[in-house]
Amino acid sequence: MYALGIDIGSASSKVVIIDKEKNVIANAVVPGGAGTTGPVRVVDEIFVKSGLAWEDITRTIATGYGRIGFQRADNQISEITCHALGVHHLVPSVRTIIDIGGQDVKAMSLTPEGIVSRFAMNDKCAAGTGRFLEVMARVLEVDVSELGTLAEQADAVIDISSTCAVFAESEVISRLASGVKPADVAAGIHQSVARRVAGLAVRVGVNPDIVLTGGVAKNGGLVNALADELQQDITVAPDCQLTGALGAALIAMKEITISASQPMYA
Ligand code: ADP
Repeated sequence: MYALGIDIGSASSKVVIIDKEKNVIANAVVPGGAGTTGPVRVVDEIFVKSGLAWEDITRTIATGYGRIGFQRADNQISEITCHALGVHHLVPSVRTIIDIGGQDVKAMSLTPEGIVSRFAMNDKCAAGTGRFLEVMARVLEVDVSELGTLAEQADAVIDISSTCAVFAESEVISRLASGVKPADVAAGIHQSVARRVAGLAVRVGVNPDIVLTGGVAKNGGLVNALADELQQDITVAPDCQLTGALGAALIAMKEITISASQPMYA
């Protein structure tokens, strides 16, 4: 008996399959989220990896920005609920989750039982999101996955005062044109994102353990900048991009178990 959770974000699609003991059988991440072929490709990939097929999946839950468009799902659940469940499963001591994705940032405060008690989200502009970092990486002529390493070579942190991605891009171009070291600019970019994210997180209350999820958690430069900004230690979730999909799979398995223990027909 297997359950599948799929998280269709703005930048990527993620999927996790678990068995009834909640062991992860396989997972997959592909670039391309809602409105792209990402969801189809990620499911193809996990079935190749696991040797399973749709017939083997008892229940499927979709989450994320693109969850409504996924026809194969038995149910759709908000990413807040799924992230909280996924992270609490991996790190039971979590009290604050910060999720930085492609186009939004979420902060959640959890009870010791893993229930979301407060939540805040920025999805109105690119500031503080993965998209902001992608735009800046392009100007610095590095891949977004190299931005954190570049920032580690900084001698100084250049203040990037514009929060708007469009204005910040111009500011970065003019700093580089005036001869500032790209590494120092990269450090300033991380500081700018970290300030923005920290500002959102304090609205829900930042209590340890703080767990960072989402694709941006792969950026060590940003993790360090955020820890500095919050003056607290930060744990990067294991498989940080997959916690929403894991939470969805856990809900799917719970729904299977509940319907098995409470049969609708005697
Ligand atoms: P969403 O759930 O909105 O689709 P993700 O959680 O997948 O978003 O995060 C996507 C963001 O993660 C990208 O915009 C990019 O900034 C960042 N990212 C993805 N992979 C890496 C990596 N290897 N190193 C650094 N940043 C990354």
